[in-house]
Amino acid sequence: MKNLSDISVVKEILAKHGFTFSKALGQNFIINQNICPEMADMAIPDDDYCALEIGPGIGVLTYQLARRAKKVVAIELDKRLLPVLDETLAEFDNVEIVNADVMKLDLAELIKEKFSGEKICVCANLPYYITSPIIMLLLESKLPVESLTVMVQKEAADRLCAEVGSRESGAVTVAVNYYARAEKLFNVSKGSFMPAPKVDSAVIKLSIREKPPVEITDEKKFFSMVKAAFAQRRKTALNSISAGMGLSKEKISSALEKAGLDLNVRAEKLTMQQLADLCEAIEE
Ligand code: SAM
Repeated sequence: MKNLSDISVVKEILAKHGFTFSKALGQNFIINQNICPEMADMAIPDDDYCALEIGPGIGVLTYQLARRAKKVVAIELDKRLLPVLDETLAEFDNVEIVNADVMKLDLAELIKEKFSGEKICVCANLPYYITSPIIMLLLESKLPVESLTVMVQKEAADRLCAEVGSRESGAVTVAVNYYARAEKLFNVSKGSFMPAPKVDSAVIKLSIREKPPVEITDEKKFFSMVKAAFAQRRKTALNSISAGMGLSKEKISSALEKAGLDLNVRAEKLTMQQLADLCEAIEE
């Protein structure tokens, strides 16, 4: 077994395959040997679980997932990595690599085909250029997965795991909170990657809720209101919702009153329940 997080081993494998890093694909590979075992331990409750990974790179995390999970399916866009993964994961017969763009796949269909009825968790060091879109895709698709244990940039981790109603919260915080309970597990310094990115990272875990924490009649309207409310952070919720949803200020004022909210309140001060009440009170 090769130590895939040993920098000299990584360099040797990449040189052998003539691989060069693609910045556009967010290729920063982990070279700190403590991280992947810890991430895999925290992601996979027991060996009865299957794991879905996005962006295996040279397979450093995939290797640890394969040691713990019943089966691993890893989606990698860069086909230059396929021969590398063939080599680094050769000792496992429970790993399958899917060469595709995660954003273009029918994930529900893939899960049905590859895991049919098994318990699934997602674990990945996400490509940073599409962190939030991938997380939102996974959550909004309402896939039969129990949790997402993912590495993201530290700033994104803070936003994703913020409390709704706190200064750090944003539209993505509300969306994540609607679908999952978010917790930050540990920080990862930028020196843990090759090449080193400009900022530090963190591993977070999103445990999917059985049902949302608030009742919403129209999810589409709720999320478009939330997006509008946070779009102009320095404005009041009244002004930004009115501008973003193209509804009159009178209409939003009367909804705020109906929901028992201050007319000058900002979106970041509103709790999940207050946002839900406000959405219900907006009549179109
Ligand atoms: N898991 C490896 C590690 O931790 O060292 C690599 C992580 S690297 C941050 C992100 C990986 O995602 C790269 O291997 C990259 O090629 C892949 N990737 C980028 N965009 C992708 C996409 N749209 N679909 C699938 N994989 C993608």
